[in-house]
Amino acid sequence: MSYLNDESMYREIIMDHVKNPRNIKTPNDHYRKTYLKNPSCGDELYLYVDYDETTNTIKDITYKVTGCSICCSSVSMMSELLTNKSKLEMALIIENFNNMVTGKEYNPEVLGDAVSLKGIVNVPPRIKCATLGYKALLQILGEDHE
Ligand code: ZN
Repeated sequence: MSYLNDESMYREIIMDHVKNPRNIKTPNDHYRKTYLKNPSCGDELYLYVDYDETTNTIKDITYKVTGCSICCSSVSMMSELLTNKSKLEMALIIENFNNMVTGKEYNPEVLGDAVSLKGIVNVPPRIKCATLGYKALLQILGEDHE
């Protein structure tokens, strides 16, 4: 597959998540929630997570997001990618995603549709758009130690 075809395929995946965001629903009261904003672009995100503390598993993710297509598609992809994942699996996936968008070595196998955002590495101002959802998730789970 040529580089150009790759690019247009990725653009198609991104636009599909923008037009048909996954996992949109009304969260129950027991969902953990957080709000995060990316002032550099104006993206705003309310993230809701159903987290099972007994099994340390993310049971469900939903959200309300407004902003650019990078941010909106990334949150939608994240909700698909991390539903029913353990905290350890989540950490591995987020590490690989962060490595991808910052030009470090990563494993595309664990990233699902989120691989389509790899071009962000060439657009540093947009990295914060792509990572907003993951940051919010870590914040909800109390893992934002950085
Ligand atoms: Zn943005």
